[in-house]
Amino acid sequence: MKLQLNENFLRIKPSYLFSDVAKRVRAYAEAHPDKKILRLGIGDVTLPLAPTVIRAMHRATDEMADAATFRGYAPEYGYDFLREAVARHYASFGVGVAADDIFISDGAKSDLGNFVDLFADVPVLVPDPVYPVYVDSNLMAGRTVEYVEGNEQNGFLPSPAGLSETPRLIYLCSPNNPTGAVYSKEGLAEWVDFALKTGSLILYDSAYEAFIADGSPRSIYAVEGAEKCAVEFCSLSKTAGFTGTRCGWTVVPASLGDGALSPKKMWERRQATKFNGVPYVVQRAAEAALSDEGMAECMANIAYYKNNAALIADLLQKKGIPFTGGTASPYLWLKCPGGLGSWEFFDKLLCEAQVVGTPGAGFGLAGEGYFRLTAFGSHETTREAVDRLDKLL
Ligand code: PLP
Repeated sequence: MKLQLNENFLRIKPSYLFSDVAKRVRAYAEAHPDKKILRLGIGDVTLPLAPTVIRAMHRATDEMADAATFRGYAPEYGYDFLREAVARHYASFGVGVAADDIFISDGAKSDLGNFVDLFADVPVLVPDPVYPVYVDSNLMAGRTVEYVEGNEQNGFLPSPAGLSETPRLIYLCSPNNPTGAVYSKEGLAEWVDFALKTGSLILYDSAYEAFIADGSPRSIYAVEGAEKCAVEFCSLSKTAGFTGTRCGWTVVPASLGDGALSPKKMWERRQATKFNGVPYVVQRAAEAALSDEGMAECMANIAYYKNNAALIADLLQKKGIPFTGGTASPYLWLKCPGGLGSWEFFDKLLCEAQVVGTPGAGFGLAGEGYFRLTAFGSHETTREAVDRLDKLL
């Protein structure tokens, strides 16, 4: 082939973090077939879909089997019944979002990656450590990424203090993956004020909002003024176990601007051109997850994961290992004991306890020396892993 390719792809690491982890685990398992490996690494759920969700999927499937109720292409922005259910979900925790500003998606990752289509070569600010998709999608598009560091001093919740006042695309993730740290309303208000003052746009990832139970904001729109400077990406992946079912949404407020070159109009245009909607059966499943009955079942699953998180947190406390997360998040972010590097600690846990976690260095330079454990395993796996780590650490 003689076509010039997008050389920006050379700027991103050739393999994704979890492929690296999987490769090392596979090699270890092949060399030690007698060892039982316990996985507290990848951020995927393990509990099945809630019964209310399954019933809705069956009903919707039956509708698809009947010419009178069959549905073809779904509306690009989502069926009204789901956009309205999402708006009611926000209202349930006191946040007003217009159904018309809600765009139903096949999950947060695609929209987070695709939203950068709307911008020219603008400066981008990303917290470090964080979910790697923000950095990689901007590097692929040729943009320069600036980092704002999360560390022990700021509780892994960086603030805009000290940043130059240029407009930027600013990514925020709360509860954060990987650190589990959650912004307070005051902490988010600092970012909203900064964005309004500088003419920046916040891209807010609230994929783990359902884990928040202490009154911290579950949406950036809990902060006054955010509707003029923020887009929000959310997902049912972790709220309702939809990692394999695929449904989420993005809120692009009309109040971000007017005219053909306003984020909402552009996102409408972009989605109408490149996206053909989420399957009807999945949207009915999502509607059911957001119903009172469905949400109660989803919250019971989240309580199960939080119980696992508490087991890990108790162990870390007992061992005097500093960590964040684990209360409003399925993630626990710990400092590697003994000054070990992230991958050194990964190898130690794998080889000496057969426990798999995720090296913090995979989430950014500031993640070096840290390690992520997740609470998404079964209770039995988590218990056994905690017992092994109790002996090892
Ligand atoms: N945002 C964060 C912070 C995540 O950790 C994840 C998945 O792990 C996603 C978004 C992607 O979610 P989805 O499954 O909706 O694409």
